[in-house]
Amino acid sequence: MITLTGKKVSEGIAIGKLSFYKRDTKENRRIYVKDVEKEVMRFQKARQKAILELKILYDTAAKEVGEANAAIFEMQQAILEDRDFIDQITNIIATQKLNAEYAIQSVAQGFISDAVAKEKDYVQGHDADVKDVANRVLRILSRGWKDKMLTDEPFVLAAGELYPSEAVQLDKTKVLGFATRYGTINSHTAVLARTKGIPSVIGLGEALKKDYEGKMIIVDGFEGKVYIEPDYTTITRMKQKQDEKHTHVKNLERLKGKDNITQSGQRIDVCANIGSREDVENVIRCDAGGIGLFRSEFLYMENGAKPPTEEQQFQAYKLAAESMGSKKVVIRTADLGGDKVAECLDLGEDANPAIGYRGIRVSLDKEELFKTQLRAILRASAFGNLSIMFPMITSIEEVTHAKVMLERAKRELKDEKTSFDEEIPVGVMIETPAAVMISGELAREVDFFSIGTNDLSQLTLGMDRQNGKIDKFYDPHHPALLKMIRIIANNVHLEGKHISICGDLAADLELTEYFIQIGIDELSVAPNQVLSLRKKIREIQ
Ligand code: PEP
Ligand code: MG
Repeated sequence: MITLTGKKVSEGIAIGKLSFYKRDTKENRRIYVKDVEKEVMRFQKARQKAILELKILYDTAAKEVGEANAAIFEMQQAILEDRDFIDQITNIIATQKLNAEYAIQSVAQGFISDAVAKEKDYVQGHDADVKDVANRVLRILSRGWKDKMLTDEPFVLAAGELYPSEAVQLDKTKVLGFATRYGTINSHTAVLARTKGIPSVIGLGEALKKDYEGKMIIVDGFEGKVYIEPDYTTITRMKQKQDEKHTHVKNLERLKGKDNITQSGQRIDVCANIGSREDVENVIRCDAGGIGLFRSEFLYMENGAKPPTEEQQFQAYKLAAESMGSKKVVIRTADLGGDKVAECLDLGEDANPAIGYRGIRVSLDKEELFKTQLRAILRASAFGNLSIMFPMITSIEEVTHAKVMLERAKRELKDEKTSFDEEIPVGVMIETPAAVMISGELAREVDFFSIGTNDLSQLTLGMDRQNGKIDKFYDPHHPALLKMIRIIANNVHLEGKHISICGDLAADLELTEYFIQIGIDELSVAPNQVLSLRKKIREIQ
């Protein structure tokens, strides 16, 4: 048995086979492969499959738009059957021992100029088609793994680092747990693991080896430990821990329907954070007082190459609104950018993504995209108790601009005679030091606030929430941060407005008493943290 130690990010025990994440084609990194023949076969199989797909496409298109217009698919097949194309790819795999994805991509890039030199008429002027063909094969190669995910037994997912855009697209019902080499407690992948209640340990370093693929693994998310090929005693101990966890969860269920009230009668609301429509069920199961944060950017991140349409978003928000009945649902407009990369939106490179082109800055810049989302939220507001919240605010101007956009969307809907809640509450996230300093002024502009302690911590301390190397310097209870939270609460209450915390610090039971003391109105945490927080509140004097 091999024992590895990392950082715990999401509680629970996961027992299963380890499967390494096969990064998909969006990121065709250069990877050395041991078994060259197998890799060539992978390429050949994907190539054959792509030819077959193109044949079908040709037949359909020929029927619908005529042979002349369908010829494009014939030409694409010809590229895949071109001896030069095939040889160049297999050569890279065989001689340089590199992965098929990388080989395909590099050959596709040089293929046009090469074809021009060799006077191959059929590809000249068809750069986009060569790219298209390469993408088709790359997609098939990545699908191989996704298909495996769909049919295989559930497993424990291992990775060097798992990006939020990848984590969000996984079929969570198949993933028993996460174990990664790198990553940090406050990264969005960790947030996602907690929201979904997937036991996870990160920061295991190079000790988490590729050789462990397929081996039995236990992830102990309580202790931050991972056991590879565990012995009988460890399995028994972990199964017992798993049972204890089930009993603990069962016991907590007795608190359903009870108030979040201290022994001396102080109340605080407890809501839940979600990232997708599937999470709504968990919110209901855990008896949360509402949805304090719907991270709507995940809808964009899981939607592939196209942004979710107004209708798609409307359906997701409506489901949340209807399922929660009279309980409130706070939809945060997309906080895209930073580590939350969506394939459907090319935001370009940022030297410092966490403080770059993200959140409200993107929304105010891409007005059409923003308006689509605002219309979807407004339409859904007719079906429940919805609120709207803007992320990463730093100035009054951003808020007024966002509100102008909201009014515009309202006017459009009115003209179209579409119903919505005209009084929909508007709030902002306080997650930048600038917003803390102007929280009094902001309180005159909006109806409510929510403190995003994840970003507020990294921006106040000047410490990247993604960088595991600085973990030892990172103090989640830093006095500067706790003082800021108190200042915000005071400023907001002076204007008689509502203040909640929806960052991960809200679930920190060591701070619950402090938050109640300073008058925080609401804590919003991952669904499976709701009842333990309620228990803690009810024990406070
Ligand atoms: C936060 O920053 O605390 C927050 C809730 O937003 P996110 O974690 O999605 O950045
Ligand atoms: Mg944030």
